[in-house]
Amino acid sequence: MSEVIVGIDLGTTQSAVGVMDSGFPILLADESGSVLTPSVVWYGVDGKVEVGQRALRRAGVDRVFASVKSLMGRRYDELDESQKKVVSEQVTFSTASGEKSPEEISAEILKELKAIASQRLEIEVGKAVVTVPAYFNDAQRAATKRAGELAGLEVVRIVSEPTAAALSYGLDRLKESARVAVFDLGGGTFDVSILEMREGVFEVVATAGDTHLGGDDFDELLLRMAAKRLSVEWEGFDGLERARWHAEARRVKHELTGENEVVFRIPFCGECVISRGDFEREMSPFLDRVEGCCRRALVDAAMEVSELQAVVMVGGSSRIPVVQERVKAVFEKEPDLSQHPDEAIARGAAIQAGVLAGTVREVLLLDVTPLSLGIETMGGLMNVLIPRNTTIPCKAGEMFTNAADGQKSMKVRVLQGERELAADNWELGAFEVEFQTERKGQARVGVEFRIDSDGILSVLARDIATGQDTVIDVGSAAVDVAEARVEKMVSESVEFAFEDMGARVFEEARLKAEELLPAVEVALGQLGGHLESEERDIIEKARDAVVSAIASGSGPRLKASVEELDGATETLAAMLVDLASGSLFSDS
Ligand code: ADP
Ligand code: MG
Repeated sequence: MSEVIVGIDLGTTQSAVGVMDSGFPILLADESGSVLTPSVVWYGVDGKVEVGQRALRRAGVDRVFASVKSLMGRRYDELDESQKKVVSEQVTFSTASGEKSPEEISAEILKELKAIASQRLEIEVGKAVVTVPAYFNDAQRAATKRAGELAGLEVVRIVSEPTAAALSYGLDRLKESARVAVFDLGGGTFDVSILEMREGVFEVVATAGDTHLGGDDFDELLLRMAAKRLSVEWEGFDGLERARWHAEARRVKHELTGENEVVFRIPFCGECVISRGDFEREMSPFLDRVEGCCRRALVDAAMEVSELQAVVMVGGSSRIPVVQERVKAVFEKEPDLSQHPDEAIARGAAIQAGVLAGTVREVLLLDVTPLSLGIETMGGLMNVLIPRNTTIPCKAGEMFTNAADGQKSMKVRVLQGERELAADNWELGAFEVEFQTERKGQARVGVEFRIDSDGILSVLARDIATGQDTVIDVGSAAVDVAEARVEKMVSESVEFAFEDMGARVFEEARLKAEELLPAVEVALGQLGGHLESEERDIIEKARDAVVSAIASGSGPRLKASVEELDGATETLAAMLVDLASGSLFSDS
């Protein structure tokens, strides 16, 4: 019998676990018969922990931990203001059982899912495939793996959520070069991805989304609508009242999926009718944001809607009719909702787990890098080794050299981002590579980036002369990893494109000028006497123009003047070559 590997959707608001059974992915239910476990954890004194529905029942009367997924693998300074409010400096939570990290809290959810699976399958489950959003960076993937380990689960593969969704829809059976969009509107986040089938395998061609958009916002919206109609100041609510209103708002939201009117009712406070039309009107700003992300994904994928064979919708909030209407309008086709939207990703994870366990035929899954990866080079520029949206696993390398005579080591800064200047990108890690002292431009250092199929990046630097390797595993350097607000980074790279290009042009020209100027001085000193005075004048003017262009800070001006100087010194350069070969003064 082959080993059992379960598939887990570790969701922001709800999680689920599944397994392949006679060739079909099935989800495993807890004692109450539910296959969806709220991603909520409660800690009591003396180490008591409750997870899921049981923890949720304590919300209001006691502190519970929800939506920690968005804090996985993050540093405090990368969080937004609302997230900072709930956590302390190290991104830990103080609980009745001591300080807990987001990983430890997620581990409790994974432990619960492992227990559900072990009980249903009547074996001790030890291995799992876990899904993460396509935009999760290395630190966030590594944190997810660690949460699995803490829960006693070996995470044999991290799979991106859209890829899992596509698998559950059986899209892997589509014909060659088929393209599909996966739309995922969940409880707290929204993602949309474009996948393409190439040579029988999936590739995530582009991904876009909003980490603060989902069902929770719609609950809040309904709560506000009801409070306004009932003339209640809900801001002053205590925990229990808040929890009660939230629960009612959510119930009303779910009912509105099938009904035209639903009564919002809070005992001893009042009731009011909310119509679907009212709700849909208030939803329109959210729908506009959803639409914006869909269009961005299409632009990133350089695709027209007519090129898409299918649009599948997952995530519980995809059940809302007006959301479906908007998706249909944007993609100009009927979206596929044939799978349970809040179960599809766990089913896809189960299929992938089956593939790995050998119970399902091989399907190769491929993800992409959400942001470009590279290193800093001379002049503080970003040198991209792996461009954004490259299919993983992948590797890429380049050769670098020393910038000065006698330089003994070189600092390799591993960067992530879309900006031209290193300083505007995020540093994932840095290390020193030593080499034998050589003249400027003589040392040879090969740098290789490798991303494994879990999306974990390792960087290798080799001194070619000695064969000495330095390797860092960036994936595990969680604290050093900057966050991948992919969206923000990409939009800033567009916003600052002109400034960035200007800065790059200037830096490149400045480097060239720094080489050229001393060389010209030396050559003039040695050979100036052999030049016509007119030619000497031209060279000196060109040299002065370069010096003042550096001071001006203007990239185009510096570039032009460097080219000018380069041209003006052509004769001089030729004379230097002759001098080196000994022919110049041979007849004098
Ligand atoms: P996540 O992956 O973010 O944990 P899910 O995909 O499980 O989230 O979706 C959970 C969200 O779906 C919740 O906000 C829930 O209220 C919402 N949801 C579930 N069913 C419905 C429905 N019938 N109508 C509207 N929203 C729904
Ligand atoms: Mg989800």
